[in-house]
Amino acid sequence: VIIPKIVNVPSNSRVLMLLGQLERMNGEAMLKDVETARQVTAKILHLIQTQGKRKHNSRDVQTTLNILCIVSELLTVGRGRRVGVFVSKGGTGVLFQLLINASKEFPPSEELMLQLHSLLAKVGPKDRKFGVKARLTGALNVTINLMKQNLLNNKLLLPCLQVLRVYSSNLVNAVSLGKNGVVELMFKIVAPYTVDFVNEVQNVITLSSLSLLSPCTETNARRAVDGGFVTVLLALYLDWHRNDTRHRHMLIRKGLLVSLRNITNIKLGRKAFIEADGMRILYNTSTECLPVRTLDLLINTSSLIMRKCFPKNRLPVPTIKSAFHFQLPNVPAAGPVAQLYNQPPGVDDVVDESDDNEEADADTENDTENDDDDKDLLNDDIETDLNKLHPKRNPGRPLEELRVYERFFLELSEDFQVAKMSILTNRNSSCIASTQSSRPIIVPTAQALSSPVNSTRHIQSPLLLGGIASRRVGGGGSNFGSDCGSEGTEDEGGEGAVLEVPDTALLLPLHDPDLYVEMVKGTRSVPEYAEVAYPDYFGHVAPTFKEPLLERVYGVQRSKIYQDIERLIHPNDILDKAVYDLDIPSCPVIEDNGESLKFNSQFESGNLRKAVQVRKYEYDLVLNSDVNSNHYHQWFYFEVSGMRVGTVYRFNIINCEKSNSQFNYGMQVLMYSVQEAISGRPRWVRTGADICYYKNHFARSSIAAGGQKGKSYYSMTFSTTFSHKDDVCYFAYHYPYTYSTLKMHLAKLEALRTPQIYLRQDNLCETLGGNGCPLLTITAMPESNSNDHICQFRNRPLIFLSARVHPGETNASWVMKGTLEFLMGTSPLAVSLREGFIFKIVPMLNPDGVINGNHRCSLSGEDLNRQWLNPNPELHPTIYHTKSLLQYLVHMQRTPLVFCDYHGHSRKKNVFMYGCSVKETVWQSNITASSSDLQEDLGYRTLPKILSQIAPAFSMGSCSFVVERSKESTARVVVWREIGVQRSYTMESTLCGCDQGKYKGLQIGTRELEEMGAQFCVSLLRLKRLTGLRNHQHLLDLENDIMTHTKVVRLVKWRILQSHLHTQLMHEGTHML
Ligand SMILES: [Zn+2]
Repeated sequence: VIIPKIVNVPSNSRVLMLLGQLERMNGEAMLKDVETARQVTAKILHLIQTQGKRKHNSRDVQTTLNILCIVSELLTVGRGRRVGVFVSKGGTGVLFQLLINASKEFPPSEELMLQLHSLLAKVGPKDRKFGVKARLTGALNVTINLMKQNLLNNKLLLPCLQVLRVYSSNLVNAVSLGKNGVVELMFKIVAPYTVDFVNEVQNVITLSSLSLLSPCTETNARRAVDGGFVTVLLALYLDWHRNDTRHRHMLIRKGLLVSLRNITNIKLGRKAFIEADGMRILYNTSTECLPVRTLDLLINTSSLIMRKCFPKNRLPVPTIKSAFHFQLPNVPAAGPVAQLYNQPPGVDDVVDESDDNEEADADTENDTENDDDDKDLLNDDIETDLNKLHPKRNPGRPLEELRVYERFFLELSEDFQVAKMSILTNRNSSCIASTQSSRPIIVPTAQALSSPVNSTRHIQSPLLLGGIASRRVGGGGSNFGSDCGSEGTEDEGGEGAVLEVPDTALLLPLHDPDLYVEMVKGTRSVPEYAEVAYPDYFGHVAPTFKEPLLERVYGVQRSKIYQDIERLIHPNDILDKAVYDLDIPSCPVIEDNGESLKFNSQFESGNLRKAVQVRKYEYDLVLNSDVNSNHYHQWFYFEVSGMRVGTVYRFNIINCEKSNSQFNYGMQVLMYSVQEAISGRPRWVRTGADICYYKNHFARSSIAAGGQKGKSYYSMTFSTTFSHKDDVCYFAYHYPYTYSTLKMHLAKLEALRTPQIYLRQDNLCETLGGNGCPLLTITAMPESNSNDHICQFRNRPLIFLSARVHPGETNASWVMKGTLEFLMGTSPLAVSLREGFIFKIVPMLNPDGVINGNHRCSLSGEDLNRQWLNPNPELHPTIYHTKSLLQYLVHMQRTPLVFCDYHGHSRKKNVFMYGCSVKETVWQSNITASSSDLQEDLGYRTLPKILSQIAPAFSMGSCSFVVERSKESTARVVVWREIGVQRSYTMESTLCGCDQGKYKGLQIGTRELEEMGAQFCVSLLRLKRLTGLRNHQHLLDLENDIMTHTKVVRLVKWRILQSHLHTQLMHEGTHML
């Protein structure tokens, strides 16, 4: 300890004595003899205290100063421990008291004030009650007044600012300080400083003042706006930006921006920012910063402010209600459709200027993937009602009513020997190949399509006559089929009516273009589509090359956002020309001079509402809401033509709703080129560069945002170039799979039937839109007509599968296609499967949604997978009847062994399952359950466990068996709880790709999805073997599995589980892997 030289030593012998004592203890000894040091300092403290109480005179001031000086020195060393002692002994209060006393002197001693504030700045951060004490003693005002009177006194200002900073960390103080003019004061201090003046002290003062402005409360922000400080801050920032050419004062520049950021948190602040030309100033300064990587901090903060202040726009549509309306047979008064259409016109998309308190989405440039939002949700959402957790079989409708479903289970009831032939030949209940419609169907939709040279098959398409500008296609790649060389026959194609169809029969056994058109004729759509999209017509042959997840280029999102901001900065560059608009129903394609792309989405599953040419090669795209709703924008499928070769086009889908997307984590869009297809490469390929997904400046009405105000939409942007002239290209969110495609596949599946296969296709019901909902039964014919064989046939366990309740999850249909093709196959595994089980399959639970380009809902405007608790026969017929089928099976005591509903997941990678377990739900929550509550067979884990071993895309780690409250009306939970199927699952397939296993780092394709569907079947066979063999020895594997995969394993609960495992082992011990 260095004892400062004390001038004018006071005649206070006690102080001298104590100081002498301290002096005798050198630093080393002091550390060892902490107790003595503590005693000495305590005595000194006491002295200050008594000194403070005395009447002041000049000698006393000097004494106090000297003591404070010593205290200050004492507190400088010792890493804060001494400060802690000082605070615990009440030192802070003493200092405040001294401060108040000193302030009563006139004029107050500057030296004393300086010393007191220096000490307070040191002590303040260690005293949790510092702010409160300061307020109660009146010290706040003393400091402020002192500063007001000493604006040019840097020496005094500095410690005052530091103390003020500690004061204002208390919110009440911050408001109180604001009232006392601190905001104005700070601006007075900051404003005069420019680079010319900078020296060390002023630098620190500026910084401190700025940091004081930063924790702006709303009222303080308002004060700053009223005081005109937005302009001041901008001018200052510009000044620093221009003069700080060597970037030595980054912290001050950042500080100025942070103050702006806080002020613009309020509406008034944003308005002031725009009026002060803030957008242009920050845009220009940050553009100048772009080349210097170290200035990223400034650019990102500027970008954040500009995005926040960017004036909110309305979506360029007359209403956010879907462009299509479907009249429901009855509209429940409390239902979503009544609510939607009872609103007064025009209220649904009012721009809401409220503050969006959610921090503008942090810069995702360097974010690693993070699915935490999902988990947070889950924790609030866990079902904690044990009554609801326990499966309660609810047979639902009485048997008499359910008897009508008998006709869907002929294999269980009828006298097979008699019925066999008639069942299988008389398919009068089939809806599949209905072609009754007489609407004209236009096959290709583009006018500029070529009629190419390498003919393999020609189809006459009368509706194309005259519409095609004929020309030759050069080159010509490898074609499919045996007869398709690339000899390049000269053919002017003058007749114009010949369209090349790639021959994919060998590669796509379930595809047939002619049959597809026939199927389309029987499909009923709300907009009455008259066209067919080429990709669905030609079919898709999965490419053989790998499609890796897209690596994100540094700064992509920032540069996209800056381009968006330029719309405001350079308004003259903006065309803002609508080129496609479904809200002009008669003429959605707006004619033009050939300077714009042509868009179209008027075909099955198409979704694009509007296209606006923003700049020459940039388009804003608006997606249509699900029919009878005003949101759910995610799925898209549209056609583009009239492109220039080699030009980079930018597309922005501007009304996305989810807060994040796999488009930020490697997912690309899908593109299908007709020129490529007719050159022998009919396929969807992952495409698009510079992809990112971010919050934009289009306001989202609170009505469409679940009541939340001030929300914005999100943009998904991608860039692409086209490689063929006069091409017609399609873009989609994921591999399309239309209802007509399903019907075609089902019709072609019939052809795969052998005499050993029992395949029946029924029409379960009709949808609201008048489309059939196919129901398939697949099993093996009985080996013979012997009673034993018929008996074995009838007693096969049932497997119940469904898919595509969510229309935007097209991947679910590709998985289902894999399942169906495998089940109809000739492999020994397929034979065993058919012999072992009866499969009941509803491959498309929501045909209307699929047909009309919905993402989530049916024509009732509702998510059908939230209707299982109480489906309405009129509004949710497919769910009502599917549930009834299951209820019928309960009555017949034929509850399925497995129920699985195929879905797609837009925010996660890999394929995984959700199941239902009481135990795992209890573990994840804090509810207490008796051990009898936790009696549960572990069989629900077996199937996913097998899948994780045999299906490369499947990840056990992503599976969850927790029952959520928000999911209580889903198929999975209702079938588990009411129907009593223990193995009731949703199988979720990624729309993006995999981050584990054989496909790690790759995007998912239809081949992998179909493989998944096949592997699902294989897993059922293993399940059967395991449940059949009653094999106990794998129990340990299962234990390991649970230990490694259950995210929260609590030891106590684990012990309960172990004891259960043993009892289960005794009783059944079956479902173990
Ligand atoms: Zn889904």
